[in-house]
Amino acid sequence: FVIPDFQGFCKYIEEFYWRCKNNTEGKVAGYIPQLARMNPDYWGVSVVTIDGQRFSIGDTSVPFTLQSCSKPLTYAIALDQLGADLVHKYIGQEPSGRNFNELVLDYNKKPHNPMINAGAILCCSLLKTLIRHEMTLAEKFDFTMNYFKRLAGGETIGFNNAVFLSEREAADRNYALGFYMRENKCFPDKANLRECMDFYFQCCSMEANCESMSMMAATLANGGICPTTEEKVLKPDSVRDVLSLMHSCGMYDYSGQFAFKVGLPAKSGVCGALLLVVPNVMGLCIWSPPLDSLGNSCRGVQFCEELVEEFNFHRYDNL
Ligand code: GLN
Repeated sequence: FVIPDFQGFCKYIEEFYWRCKNNTEGKVAGYIPQLARMNPDYWGVSVVTIDGQRFSIGDTSVPFTLQSCSKPLTYAIALDQLGADLVHKYIGQEPSGRNFNELVLDYNKKPHNPMINAGAILCCSLLKTLIRHEMTLAEKFDFTMNYFKRLAGGETIGFNNAVFLSEREAADRNYALGFYMRENKCFPDKANLRECMDFYFQCCSMEANCESMSMMAATLANGGICPTTEEKVLKPDSVRDVLSLMHSCGMYDYSGQFAFKVGLPAKSGVCGALLLVVPNVMGLCIWSPPLDSLGNSCRGVQFCEELVEEFNFHRYDNL
């Protein structure tokens, strides 16, 4: 086993869980009613090791929408299907140093990276237009959901239509980003802006829970092979690229500090979820809706910091 004393390890996870539960800071995202209504007390942590040992504590089967946690997934599909050279003709690899939805492009007039809204919208346009363009909107939706599901080893993945409709209603900034990118000729030739935006909102509105999401993280930790189904969902090269950008850009404008303190690839979303990958060891999903001012889950960030305080998972531990 990659973690020999798994039970002993889980005792620590439990201890961090209860310690973080006392953290009542932050506010639930309020830009759409479905998220604003989320119970701030939900708190769950799920762990899956690359050899399939599992542990969950708290509200780990309550569904939530993926929101920005879908960004590394759509980026992974784009890489796997199109190759990194093509994808990065359109999207950069640099942290933006700005908020996730800021109206800004890099000095090449490309979105900074695929982990912020501009880059993720563009990534969705690549999925929509460059991968089997003949697919209908419905087929492309199924294709993507199916990928998410295979990453999650066939576990709970759904779609929340109310969230999708609200996202689309409350999307002035995302549309602004879309138009700004179209003005700057960021999109591939055949892209239809409205369809790309819808597709982006649909990806944000996919639903999962802590358990299924920890399996996705574990598939990434395992180089693209799902630990339970043993299906090779992604190529190792694609996973390497996804983890690299999660490491440098996954935590919004806290990414630099997170890389410094925690030293692990992660991705957060306004749903309050945090995907955390310990390469070659395990994947975790940590979920608590209240967010700090940068948009990361307060308990989620604390949990990660507690974890590397106790264990030497930081990339530059043990040198
Ligand atoms: N749906 C959200 C948006 O596009 C996702 C952003 C996020 O999770 N940070 O604004």
